[in-house]
Amino acid sequence: MQGNYFKNYPNKEGFFKEYGGSFIPEQLQKEMDKITKAYYSISKSHKFIAELRSIRKHYQGRPTPVYFCNRLSERYGGRIYLKREDLNHTGAHKLNHCMGEALLAKYMGKKRLIAETGAGQHGVALATAAAYFGLECEIHMGEVDIQKEYPNVMRMKVLGATVIPVTHGLKTLKEAVDSAFEAYLKDPINSIYCIGSVVGPHPFPMMVRDFQRVIGIEAKDQFQEMTGELPDNIVACVGGGSNAMGIFSAFLQDDECKIFGVEPGGKSLDIIGDHAATMSLGTPGMIHGFKCYTLQDEKGEPAPVHSIASGLDYPGVGPEHSMLKDMDRVSYVTASDKECIDAFYDLSRSEGIIPALESAHAVAYAIKLAQRSPQESILVNLSGRGDKDLDYVIDNFEMPK
Ligand SMILES: *Cc1c(COP(=O)(O)O)cnc(C)c1O
Repeated sequence: MQGNYFKNYPNKEGFFKEYGGSFIPEQLQKEMDKITKAYYSISKSHKFIAELRSIRKHYQGRPTPVYFCNRLSERYGGRIYLKREDLNHTGAHKLNHCMGEALLAKYMGKKRLIAETGAGQHGVALATAAAYFGLECEIHMGEVDIQKEYPNVMRMKVLGATVIPVTHGLKTLKEAVDSAFEAYLKDPINSIYCIGSVVGPHPFPMMVRDFQRVIGIEAKDQFQEMTGELPDNIVACVGGGSNAMGIFSAFLQDDECKIFGVEPGGKSLDIIGDHAATMSLGTPGMIHGFKCYTLQDEKGEPAPVHSIASGLDYPGVGPEHSMLKDMDRVSYVTASDKECIDAFYDLSRSEGIIPALESAHAVAYAIKLAQRSPQESILVNLSGRGDKDLDYVIDNFEMPK
């Protein structure tokens, strides 16, 4: 992994090797080109960088700490460390890119942020950023998800966002994406589209990665200060892949660090629709205007997916992850629903930290690594806190003694 990685990937057309790019209607392409241009000129300016740094420190609560898990490490072996993204304002890493996207919108003179949301986590983070900057916020959400994720719908409304119910098709995330793009195209002068992960057409996979890089930059410094060395293993969960790209990016060029992306193995890896292991079991294809590993049905349509962690159930994945898999730089592995629930209780009871179900996938794999290589250190990106998941876990799984 030599040369200037961040200058080479993506290339000018937004490709990470053969993945990524932009395959969208011409009218939308014009708007994406404007965002790309603005991103390159504005986000590299001293003024923008200084303002974003100040927001991260005084509003988001960064830097988030790196924490050594004493009791968990004692129990399973290894040395397990957590990068505490759960301590970000709003309780997850998503605010890292939402504040960046909203600040860019402000510099571009936009008045309104538009996005889709599945479980509502991205919607809440974006509504938070909109409130901070005094921008309008319009979140498109499938009617089915609105029923399922009522607390997040209320959070968005309290924060002043407009939630638009999407009532066609399956009434979930895919239709919400189409609906948000349509709304955006009706008023591209005053609005900007803000995607929720390192996915979608260029420039989003690059932009979101760059805004999330703060995780890895901080964590590398903190880990070295604590231990005098680099971590032997880096572990993060992968849905679209933004929290993972955030931490991986700092270590890609350190060949001695092994890197693991953990996908949801769900109920079973043998049945399509029971998991969301896009890279472990998928094939290269097209989804939402870009190329990546995808899970498809026989007709080439995005396959149904399942995970107990709603932030991880997407039948595509970031193009950069797709490239890193083919390069063999990152190993993509899975953790099942069951392993995730066990890790959820393990971390809660041994450290007093309740993880998001998404993040618990990474913890589950870290525990396996610790048992396998007890002499090694493991740095886990704890992408979010689990308060949002308590009702679901308690209603659906028996609490261990
Ligand atoms: C949304 C979410 C994820 C998954 O998104 P990525 O883009 O893969 O990071 C992971 N953890 C938490 C806490 C989330 O809210």
